[in-house]
Amino acid sequence: MARRNPFTRLGGVSHEQATVAEEEYLQIMFWLEEAGLPITGANIARAMQLSAPTVHEMIGRLERDGYVERLSDKSLAFTADGRDHAKAIVTRHRLIERFLTDVLGVPWDEVHEEAERLEHAMSPVLEERMLAAIGDAKTCPHGHPIVEGAREQGALLADVEPGASVLVLRFENEAEEILHYLKEAGLRPGLDGTLEHSDAQEVVLSSGDGRHAVSRSVAETVSVRADPSPDPRPPLPEQLELSSDRYGR
Ligand SMILES: [Zn+2]
Ligand SMILES: [Zn+2]
Repeated sequence: MARRNPFTRLGGVSHEQATVAEEEYLQIMFWLEEAGLPITGANIARAMQLSAPTVHEMIGRLERDGYVERLSDKSLAFTADGRDHAKAIVTRHRLIERFLTDVLGVPWDEVHEEAERLEHAMSPVLEERMLAAIGDAKTCPHGHPIVEGAREQGALLADVEPGASVLVLRFENEAEEILHYLKEAGLRPGLDGTLEHSDAQEVVLSSGDGRHAVSRSVAETVSVRADPSPDPRPPLPEQLELSSDRYGR
């Protein structure tokens, strides 16, 4: 059933109400698509660190509400309304994060959950004001494009050879434990340096700011521009380990 969705990103009439949970899923699905990964239940479960049955149930709801449809190979695709809605909420999320860091001075490792709370309730008028307030900024503070099409694919920090020059593009997993960990290690989007060391446990980047060591699985969630560059690969590790603990979204 087609869902009437007159929502446009700026101004216009607000979209029909999707639940907060539905909007969280739409965002992850949008990110999977951006990252070049098939939108499947398994990938959603991995990205959100949720069980397969939980994800399966929500996918059924998203299908019934007209946001996604199932393809013949069992993967999912956005309907036109679904993609519009997903894009709108993703854009708003990244805009709020940028506003919180640049205008309100909230540290970048503390804005993701705040944005998740605010993004579902914001009016188009406030969104427009926030957009004006962030000036020329084109990404969220973790490197994700606010404007569609401005995303450089890059490669994974975990795959870079020692000696290569590295520019940090983006933190793909925004779970706050991971953002705290990356900040603690001194990494940030825009940081450039040289890959100093890489083994089965950790990856070390050195920059003008010092030495930055992260676990290999976290390095699999950091997108970089490297020279020489390894082949690109999806930023979705099997499981995420900061040190000995497991983390996820
Ligand atoms: Zn975020
Ligand atoms: Zn972000």
